Amino acid sequence: MSTRTPLIQRSQELFERAQTVIPGGVNSPVRAFKAVGGTPRFIARAEGARLWDADGNELIDYLGSWGPMILGHKHPKVQAALRAALEEGTSYGAPTEREVRLAELVLQAYPSCDMVRFVSSGTEATMSALRLARGYTGRDRIVKFRGNYHGHADGLLVQAGSGLLTAGGGSARSAPSSAGVPQAFAELTLVADYNDPESLEALFASQGPEIAAVIFEPVVGNAGVLIPTPEFLEALQGLTRAHGALLIADEVMTGFRLAPGGAVERLGLEPDLVCWGKIIGGGLPVGAYGGKREIMEQVAPSGPVYQAGTLSGNPIAMAAGIATLEALAEHPPYAQLEAYGQALQTGLEEIARSAGVPATLNRAGSMITLFFREGPVQTYAEAVGSDTEAFKRFFHGLLEQGIYWPPSQFEAAFFSAAHGEAELKATLEAAEAALRNLAAGR
Ligand SMILES: *Cc1c(COP(=O)(O)O)cnc(C)c1O
Repeated sequence: MSTRTPLIQRSQELFERAQTVIPGGVNSPVRAFKAVGGTPRFIARAEGARLWDADGNELIDYLGSWGPMILGHKHPKVQAALRAALEEGTSYGAPTEREVRLAELVLQAYPSCDMVRFVSSGTEATMSALRLARGYTGRDRIVKFRGNYHGHADGLLVQAGSGLLTAGGGSARSAPSSAGVPQAFAELTLVADYNDPESLEALFASQGPEIAAVIFEPVVGNAGVLIPTPEFLEALQGLTRAHGALLIADEVMTGFRLAPGGAVERLGLEPDLVCWGKIIGGGLPVGAYGGKREIMEQVAPSGPVYQAGTLSGNPIAMAAGIATLEALAEHPPYAQLEAYGQALQTGLEEIARSAGVPATLNRAGSMITLFFREGPVQTYAEAVGSDTEAFKRFFHGLLEQGIYWPPSQFEAAFFSAAHGEAELKATLEAAEAALRNLAAGR
């Protein structure tokens, strides 16, 4: 099958202009296509499961704005709520009814949480949850997992150095993974390996009394999709309880995507704090953190842990979040998303097998990654062992045929309630052509 290279002249012009005034031409790094090369598409508009770029090319969307757009773009209910809110004003710096309503909707879905505080991004949510965990426990160290992403707060931009565990029993040498993060901050962040209960046990054995919290992605999306093993989850829950550390589920990506109660509901976990973002803002900037009343009441102004925001609980953003969560409750799309995911998974696995391309597909509901390597892929080390050259060719093969897959092997693809038969068929046809070309070395 031959494909015609689409015209992207306008995107090229915009990208050149952008690079003179914005670092790398983008306001968030993955958008720049660095991992796959080529020119990022500038998007002009969207509807349902589709995007249109600045040159008018139509694309089937597997980014979903990196997670928020579970209902698809321009959902009528969300659009109507935004218009209504806009008529009333845009920001007051005083409380509004919509904040109370969205708080109630979030808490209804998460019975383990009594209170929630809204912020404006996932980054702020995790950063604030960690401050709260430290304030509540009076301890300074936190544990994260290699390859998990929790936004870009200083203490979370850390991955372990080459010697993760010392022979002496489990102290982690932590090194910042960004310039500008002081080593002194990084040293408070201990790094364990996802799906490796022993690495977590070792950290608690050596530094248990100093650990305020363990933060984790209950299903990983930010190394590509990784599914937690039951033994790993058991260790997480058990070790944090035994050592008096808080368990912080970062559901910024998975909350309301995998189930109404997020991944923790699906996995039967009882976290002490939960972080949200993405879907709860319905495409506008919203994050949140919540948990048991006793812990949340430590937050200012009821408690001593300071946290604030000029645009926190913004009425326009709250309106989009409320409409999204109400639409999800009225017409839960989860069975439909599971059916689409199953069909996409079976199709892609079959195509890769018959093309003779080594590949492993990991999926949780409407989050999916096709790793270019033999499986299983359960750990960060296994994920990074994928053939990123093969991924690049797969990505561009899809994009040329109008399928916008995330531009990195290590990101989840998302689909929405607006993806249907037509999108599935077009995606599988494009994937077949892309993988056959890949196998033929074209
Ligand atoms: C996206 C994401 C974040 C960061 O959210 P931002 O709104 O981009 O700051 C944090 N944690 C997880 C798991 C995410 O997927």
